[in-house]
Amino acid sequence: MKTIGLIGGMSWESTIPYYKIINEYMGRALGGLHNARIILYSVEFSELEDYMTKGEWDRIEVILSDVAEKLEAAGAEVILICTNTMHKLYPNISEKVSVPVIHIADATGKALKEAEIKKVALLGTKYTMTGDFYRSRLNNLGFEVLIPEGEDINTVNDIIFKELCRGIIKDESRNAYSKIIDKLKDRGAEGVILGCTEIGSLIGAKDSSLPIFDTTIIHAESAAKYALE
Ligand code: GLU
Repeated sequence: MKTIGLIGGMSWESTIPYYKIINEYMGRALGGLHNARIILYSVEFSELEDYMTKGEWDRIEVILSDVAEKLEAAGAEVILICTNTMHKLYPNISEKVSVPVIHIADATGKALKEAEIKKVALLGTKYTMTGDFYRSRLNNLGFEVLIPEGEDINTVNDIIFKELCRGIIKDESRNAYSKIIDKLKDRGAEGVILGCTEIGSLIGAKDSSLPIFDTTIIHAESAAKYALE
């Protein structure tokens, strides 16, 4: 079994499910007392969030590249960046290490393909939804990507940073997400990517009029699967 390195803490609320999902996968696959070999490096999110707000992505790149190198030096044989947003820096971080860094959108693309979905809605931080790095990766894999319109972008983003990353779960926010998903369905989406690793703590299949693709589950399981190959 290969050792999995996790760059976590973005936010720590979503790093817990990564740890759990990977270990549960190993338990299911191997039985008995089996669990995964994991090295976790949890960063200080407040510092990074501050840099994001100021657009100082180069500073974040330095921090996360250093963490990736530390994980490799500690013995990680595959690395996950446990957030969608920070995949904006994927090309620069992944080139610093010689072990594979599994891209969260590539893993999600595989799941979408298996479900035969072509037109997909994307929910995430404003950086993930409106930036090019994530959508173009999906476009290149053959998917058409829809994002919320107007004020809905801020609603989705603010709920992530003001509530979910702080462990705050509100019914009104769940309802807001459900309504936004309904609108994306009306625009022709066939499925919705929970493209932020905290969204799964707020909504599940029962809250969505579209089939959901939870990037936390998909990404974590892709690493577990790779570790057993
Ligand atoms: N965990 C979130 C994501 O998947 C947001 C936190 C961040 O900005 O990294 O995008």
